[in-house]
Amino acid sequence: MEMGEIAGNGVDGVNVPRKPVVHPPADGPLCAACRKLDKSFFDVRCAGCQLLLYDEATTISELFAILRQWIPQTQQNVLIIIEHVRLIIFNF
Ligand SMILES: [Zn+2]
Repeated sequence: MEMGEIAGNGVDGVNVPRKPVVHPPADGPLCAACRKLDKSFFDVRCAGCQLLLYDEATTISELFAILRQWIPQTQQNVLIIIEHVRLIIFNF
């Protein structure tokens, strides 16, 4: 294993070395309707924002930005957001 690599378990349970990845800070995604309403935060209850949550173009940085909105709506949906981070990392 090279310096800077970390070990992790692959999908099949095999121990594979992986390099750490830095996700640069980003703003949370905001749907067009929320932008039009001048909302400044991702709205978990908004159907348009929920679509962005499931959009393959949404990055881990953007999902972390949503998690940083530590408001009750985010807290109630934290497992869904974390699941999307996991899906992006493991690509399934
Ligand atoms: Zn929205």
